[in-house]
Amino acid sequence: MHMNYLESAARRKLKASPEWRAFKFEAIEDWYLIEGKIPEGAYASGPRKGQPKWGAGDGQKTIITAEDVDEEMELYERTTGLCRDCFGSGKVMLGWSKEKGKTFRRCPRCGESGKAAK
Ligand SMILES: [Zn+2]
Repeated sequence: MHMNYLESAARRKLKASPEWRAFKFEAIEDWYLIEGKIPEGAYASGPRKGQPKWGAGDGQKTIITAEDVDEEMELYERTTGLCRDCFGSGKVMLGWSKEKGKTFRRCPRCGESGKAAK
């Protein structure tokens, strides 16, 4: 399951703006506790370059259930017309190794078409 869906489901539940980002994903039994906020900009240099600066203070928290994730995936397919598993690429990551880097295989959900299931 993709973190993207947890983040966007949390954003939708909190009615947060598009800049809202999740920084904590905690799996609790079969649901998730998601915490995030609108970053206070990004690091301009150093090892964390490009990563969001979270600043002080807690984020907003929300609970995301498996149903929320399903709903989010359906919403993604309805709005983009793309496959929920491969995000339209037709490929899903199989694994990673030092020798080969990331390896991919044909997306089993859409059969490489990248299109949302009808
Ligand atoms: Zn696919």
